[in-house]
Amino acid sequence: MYAFEYQRPATLADAVAALTRSEDARPLSGGMTLLPTLKQRLAQPSELVDLSGVPDLQGVREEDGALLIGAFTRHADVAAGETVRRRIPALARLAESIGDRQVRNRGTLGGSIANADPAADYPAAVVALNATVRTDRREIAGDDFFTGLFETALEPGELVVGVRFPVPDAAAYAKFRHPASRYALVGVFVARFGAEVRLAVTGAGPSVFRVPEMETALASDFRPEAIAGITVDADGLNGDIHAAPDYRAHLVTVMARRAVAACG
Ligand SMILES: Cc1cc2nc3c(=O)[nH]c(=O)nc-3n(C[C@H](O)[C@H](O)[C@H](O)COP(=O)(O)OP(=O)(O)OC[C@H]3O[C@@H](n4cnc5c(N)ncnc54)[C@H](O)[C@@H]3O)c2cc1C
Repeated sequence: MYAFEYQRPATLADAVAALTRSEDARPLSGGMTLLPTLKQRLAQPSELVDLSGVPDLQGVREEDGALLIGAFTRHADVAAGETVRRRIPALARLAESIGDRQVRNRGTLGGSIANADPAADYPAAVVALNATVRTDRREIAGDDFFTGLFETALEPGELVVGVRFPVPDAAAYAKFRHPASRYALVGVFVARFGAEVRLAVTGAGPSVFRVPEMETALASDFRPEAIAGITVDADGLNGDIHAAPDYRAHLVTVMARRAVAACG
């Protein structure tokens, strides 16, 4: 590990000030990804700004019929939160499926989406639920937030403050998980808002993506059978020791059908 300064501000304003003061200061959430990265000397920030002391970044609240979840809200709190379970149960179940108990008790929504791991679960929910990412500077539509492999629309020093999730009429997440890490080999989140259906896939490609052909088919017939014959092209999908691109392509249709079936 390289040497760095450590700060634990108590307010959002102080956190933002600390991040903008130094060019290579980095926010620290649960440290689930950042600390191993530092230990392996893959990053050399001059300052770590620990967000755990900022109450404004924590918790879930209802706002104009949507759920606003603070960036520092831990996966375990999203999974167990009464409001999330009542309003968007699929999101609570997604959080419950992340990693193991230790990871869920440390990892956070903001850290997960800022990290943009191609196999992370939250990106599928952010895109399928048409969520909006709030930062200290602006609002970013979920569709525009994830820009590539471990890449987001965030600018250097920009802080995720929370995510606003509209409440769907029906939603479900189906994941084919890696048996050890529980990351998604392929995960599909489907959400229905009136006549509109949104379906987002994580784990399969370098970044989360939607499948417009499935969305259109489901908008006129919201049953698993409606998408049984729709496949995605394996070209450009991830291939590694865990699953080849064509296997992941096959899993997209299987998981999409399961997600629709789980909507009841
Ligand atoms: C063993 C293991 C298993 C896992 N399994 C899964 C799984 O099944 N599914 C899944 O989705 N994830 C999984 N994860 C990832 C985990 O859930 C965390 O979400 C992820 O590691 C990010 O961790 P963190 O929230 O502690 O953020 P940190 O590690 O603290 O930060 C991650 C990155 O985001 C930046 N950052 C943090 N907060 C903010 C913010 N508010 N604004 C801007 N940038 C920010 C940091 O600077 C850093 O670059 C797993 C992780 C581990 C270690």
